[in-house]
Amino acid sequence: MNKEIVLLIDKLAKNNSLTKDEYYKLLVDIGNEEVKYLTEKAREVREKYYDKKVFIRGLIEISNICKNDCYYCGIRRGNVKCDRYRLSKEDILECCREGYELGFRTFVMQGGEDAYFSDEILVDIISEIKASWPDCAVTLSLGERSRESYMRLYEAGADRYLLRHETVNKEHYAKLHPENLKWEKRMECLRWLREIGFQVGCGFMVGSPYQTLEMIADELKFIEEFKPDMCGIGPFIPHKETIFKDEKAGDVSLTCILLSIIRLIHPMILLPATTALGTMSENGREKGILSGANVVMPNLSPASVRKKYMLYDNKLSDGAESAQAKASLEARINSIGYKVVVDRGDVIR
Ligand code: SAH
Repeated sequence: MNKEIVLLIDKLAKNNSLTKDEYYKLLVDIGNEEVKYLTEKAREVREKYYDKKVFIRGLIEISNICKNDCYYCGIRRGNVKCDRYRLSKEDILECCREGYELGFRTFVMQGGEDAYFSDEILVDIISEIKASWPDCAVTLSLGERSRESYMRLYEAGADRYLLRHETVNKEHYAKLHPENLKWEKRMECLRWLREIGFQVGCGFMVGSPYQTLEMIADELKFIEEFKPDMCGIGPFIPHKETIFKDEKAGDVSLTCILLSIIRLIHPMILLPATTALGTMSENGREKGILSGANVVMPNLSPASVRKKYMLYDNKLSDGAESAQAKASLEARINSIGYKVVVDRGDVIR
């Protein structure tokens, strides 16, 4: 093993922190043997706090209508081939009902920035979910809104908010988004969500176009300092109806290394093995968990719309990815020595 790298991993495990240069060195020089060592360390701290537990979230994709035109995203406004839909309140409550029966205790409402979902409408839906299933957590992932709006959603009972920052590098952000979408705004939203009291998740795509290892080192430093409660990272995967259609997809091994590093930075963080990871590799989800992830988010959307929330090509929605196939997901998780639990799965702080 490379002694210098082992020392860096030990230092990270001990201090939960490295300098930017050290993160960079770790990313550049890590080899197979050291990855194994890193993974063991990550698993050790993960099990110290979360044991062998894997938390599940029922993901309800409430709308693929979006006013934004993010260059990487399959449901961007400019994709005229996207077959648009939005779920009604009844659809969403039906998903929760089914999910509750299946053992889900967190419902995640994710969607494009669809103006139909005003504060009034969301407040009504959130209140009803919380009244019907008071032992459940509600997570939102609905993009950028005003501070006032986030406040109202929080007061209605929403517990968590996922808003990936996408990249910590302002110039890079401008290469992934049109002019009207601002890096500063995205970051401001994250700060608001934190101030209001949500459990907050940030995150980025691994291997997005123009991303360099230096930038990833910056991501790690940002995550270290921002101290999110959750962090969503998954490989970038091109979508055929976007300008990035010919770009290459992000790397599964690198994603797993980053999961392990993030676990060592924040031992108690909620870290999902994402759908994108599962899409890129047959055992992606399992690899993610073995690298330090402790959350999976199976799809609880109605079967009729599932194929329409196509953020990237071939996005998984069936098999162990669907909430209805929870038994097969459980079998896969058991096979690697972990167990799915019926639990809200809040962050330990
Ligand atoms: N509108 C919400 C939800 C976006 S979809 C929001 O703005 O937060 C959730 C995440 O999917 C995005 O934050 C992005 O990081 C990821 N995503 C989008 N397109 C992708 C692609 N082509 N490959 C991999 N991940 C993608």
